Amino acid sequence: MRKDYLFQFLFNEYQNYIWEKFQSRIIPHEHLKQSVYELSQRNNISVKELGKSLNSKEIYLIEIGTGTTSIALWSQMHGDEPTATKAIFDVLNFLTADDEYNEFRKFVLNKLKLYFIPMVNPDGAENFQRENAFQIDINRDYQSTQTIESSILKNTVEKIKPEFAFNLHDQNNYYSAGNTNKASAVSFLAPPEDYKNSISDVRKKAMQVIAKLHETLAKHIPGHIARYKDEFEPRSFGDNFTRSGFSTILIESGSWQNDKNKSFVRKLNFISLLRSFEIIADEEYSTVDPQLYFSIPENKETFFDLVLRKLDLLYKGKKYTVDIAVNREESYDAGKNFFYYNGIIKDIGDLSVYSGHEEYDLKDHLVMPAKIYPTTIDDEKNLTSEFLGNLIFEGFGYVKTKNFFPDVDYVALPVNIITKKNFQPEIKREKPANLIISQKNKIKYAVINGFFCDSIRGQTPVVNGIII
Ligand SMILES: [Zn+2]
Repeated sequence: MRKDYLFQFLFNEYQNYIWEKFQSRIIPHEHLKQSVYELSQRNNISVKELGKSLNSKEIYLIEIGTGTTSIALWSQMHGDEPTATKAIFDVLNFLTADDEYNEFRKFVLNKLKLYFIPMVNPDGAENFQRENAFQIDINRDYQSTQTIESSILKNTVEKIKPEFAFNLHDQNNYYSAGNTNKASAVSFLAPPEDYKNSISDVRKKAMQVIAKLHETLAKHIPGHIARYKDEFEPRSFGDNFTRSGFSTILIESGSWQNDKNKSFVRKLNFISLLRSFEIIADEEYSTVDPQLYFSIPENKETFFDLVLRKLDLLYKGKKYTVDIAVNREESYDAGKNFFYYNGIIKDIGDLSVYSGHEEYDLKDHLVMPAKIYPTTIDDEKNLTSEFLGNLIFEGFGYVKTKNFFPDVDYVALPVNIITKKNFQPEIKREKPANLIISQKNKIKYAVINGFFCDSIRGQTPVVNGIII
């Protein structure tokens, strides 16, 4: 089967290989455990426990393949970066299936020996936090190796001595591929091994694989592939493994429009990993000009969650026409298994060089800060969604309440709650994104805690409000 066709087919048939247990954003460790067990029952797979995290959660090694070229792959050193863990199970599901791709499987598995360490940081994963249970960033712990998780990863990979290593992460949603309005869906890095960014033979091989991989992916998502910033980081694993002689490839899962669950970027991971296996098994990389790696555009931080264009804003009696950029900073409440957001104004002015995952052209509309509802609410029962839904289009985005909500910083209601005295709504950077947008004195739209509400369509997409 010709390669280009193969990946075109796989792109279309990916859904047949999705690891069904991993559908929600969070992967509970119990699901990982069950999944590892399920895989261990399949032919040609071997599974072992490498050790336990600080909070006694198992970390596993999954092996498949009988070849002589070793590849180590690990995911979720950062607990809030689960996309590649899901993709690893999709890949293993594919590699252990029995269908018209058997020829490809046989070729890859005869040439390669694959070692997967999914979810290096299970304690961080449970709370959807970057660091481990002790608040240490495992990917800055290579030198001191103080955490149990970093020592498991370091010892395992150093024992394998892989020819290639894949370090799998998620990046934030705010990157574009170069100075474009195209979001960076996936980015790659061949980590340098010194401050001079030298290109050793080891690093060169990683660059060649990336350049070849880029060629395939560009057919599916042209313009959405980037190169991660290649500053040397002496404390992180990729840079040190390159120095140890393992050609390391960092893959960062990025963002795609309307793909909050990252299903599409998970699919891109699936394709990227399988294609990398083929490139390595076939040694296709060996004839690639490594300089092609540098032709992949660099990640630029040019995206916001929401950009409102060309609004009229009054300040000291003068009218300005401005763009307003808003981000919804995400947090996870593990107790309630609930993702909540803090909508913040990030920038104001001419933002024509930036893009929004969500954008609105609001020429000839006037923006004002949402107002505080004048009456203090003294009974929580009065905060009905009907009452709050009406408030928004009367210009109110804040209510004062008695202290119903001790110990929490958000409410699952479409309004911001004020418990502090002297809070003043204003349109300024780093202030709450609670805005009222009107045309000819009629309120048309509102932004409540960073969520755009359209009075005409009657939508209230506000996931939560913040307690100030
Ligand atoms: Zn990461």
